Amino acid sequence: MTEPTTPQLQPMPEDWQRALAVVAHPDDLEYGCAAAIAAWTDAGRKVGYVLATRGEAGIDTLAPAECGPLREREQRASAAVVGVSSVEFLDHRDGVVEYGPALRRDIAAAIRRHRPELVITLNHRDTWGGVAWNTPDHVAVGRAVLDAAGDAGNRWIFPELVEQGLQPWNGVRWVAVAGSATPTHAVDASPGLERAVASLLEHRAYIEALTDEAPEAYARGFLTGTAASVGERFGGRPAVAFELFNR
Ligand SMILES: [Zn+2]
Repeated sequence: MTEPTTPQLQPMPEDWQRALAVVAHPDDLEYGCAAAIAAWTDAGRKVGYVLATRGEAGIDTLAPAECGPLREREQRASAAVVGVSSVEFLDHRDGVVEYGPALRRDIAAAIRRHRPELVITLNHRDTWGGVAWNTPDHVAVGRAVLDAAGDAGNRWIFPELVEQGLQPWNGVRWVAVAGSATPTHAVDASPGLERAVASLLEHRAYIEALTDEAPEAYARGFLTGTAASVGERFGGRPAVAFELFNR
């Protein structure tokens, strides 16, 4: 009898032009996704970032009033490294983002402004797999993104958006969830990996507060390690994994 092989991840769909990544915090996309985003923008695709918060509760030694603007600057610089110039903040409060109609409406509005075919978010489940507990903001934002991809197409759920001139957008075909413990698809990380490291390093103040390790070694070690482990299920190439939901 042959041993069962590890199920391989499928390549991500390629037949799209516009993506919108919607996550809770500055740095959420840099911890894994940015290599895929670099490859997509290289191929001429448009990607925008929307952050539910400014990550103002993310650095213990820095009060939110100082931390928010600093992390916003770091996020804009980090997006620019992978070819993303549109970075918006929805101004929900870091650490206590609430899942509910207000969050769904703000995300649906962003989806209508950007009209993406692909929406990207971060793991919305309780854990990262096993016993590694997720944070409440990721759970709230991830769930709201999956729901808002549908809300964006319905004119009657948030009629105030139509009054603001934001017509329904029914063109979201997929929502890709990064950081999922049950991924289905992947993107080759090799062409974008160096820029992904540079992109994560733009969050320097955050990383310096987080670890005693040298930021360069920390960023490279984290991203190459994650990409190599996904690669075991993607033909041995370093890769970024997503759980892909159809709409
Ligand atoms: Zn986060």
